[in-house]
Amino acid sequence: MINVKYINNNSDNGIIHGIDTYDHCKTRAITGFLPLVYNRMGIKEFTDMDETLSRLEDTSLDQFWMQHALELARQAEAEGEVPVGAVLVRNNEVIGEGWNRPIASHDPTGHAEINALRDAANRIGNYRLVDSTLYVTLEPCVMCAGAIIHARVKRVVYGATEPKTGAVVSVFDVLTDQRHNHRPEVTGGILAEQCASQLQEFFKSRRSK
Ligand SMILES: [Zn+2]
Repeated sequence: MINVKYINNNSDNGIIHGIDTYDHCKTRAITGFLPLVYNRMGIKEFTDMDETLSRLEDTSLDQFWMQHALELARQAEAEGEVPVGAVLVRNNEVIGEGWNRPIASHDPTGHAEINALRDAANRIGNYRLVDSTLYVTLEPCVMCAGAIIHARVKRVVYGATEPKTGAVVSVFDVLTDQRHNHRPEVTGGILAEQCASQLQEFFKSRRSK
């Protein structure tokens, strides 16, 4: 039996040393990827998504989905956009994915969160995304916080804080304002270092060009 406790590439105190995804393993029509779990003894591969997820503790589960959001952010980076990724999850299934692409889509609203919300609403045929959790690599802005409330997202998990435009804790507190009749639960700082360094690396390499 494998004791799944940590998802941390550098951790020596846990058994799991990293979690990755396979794009080509279409194990489910919606999720479309298979978790790969590395341990100190080598690589353990799980073919059963439900079993893997059921082994993860809540904190690890947040990290698992944040890793997926980081993957989506890499997609933005590949397209020359600021790397932010977002994934919407319900009952441990992906219902929407998005990455930042305002430049390519000629769309000022083309943030990762908006794209993930649109994708989910299209897939399930409902503009209300109740009981869903949105994982996003960067603290949402005012616009995205507004859209999250309109969509009735149940929970928001973000990675790095955004000191200039963040609308959860940094500049505004739109998501948690008591005047809204829908207020999502919020967890911040999941894989914050990885999320922040992905952005820092992007801006660093852009400056050097
Ligand atoms: Zn935004």
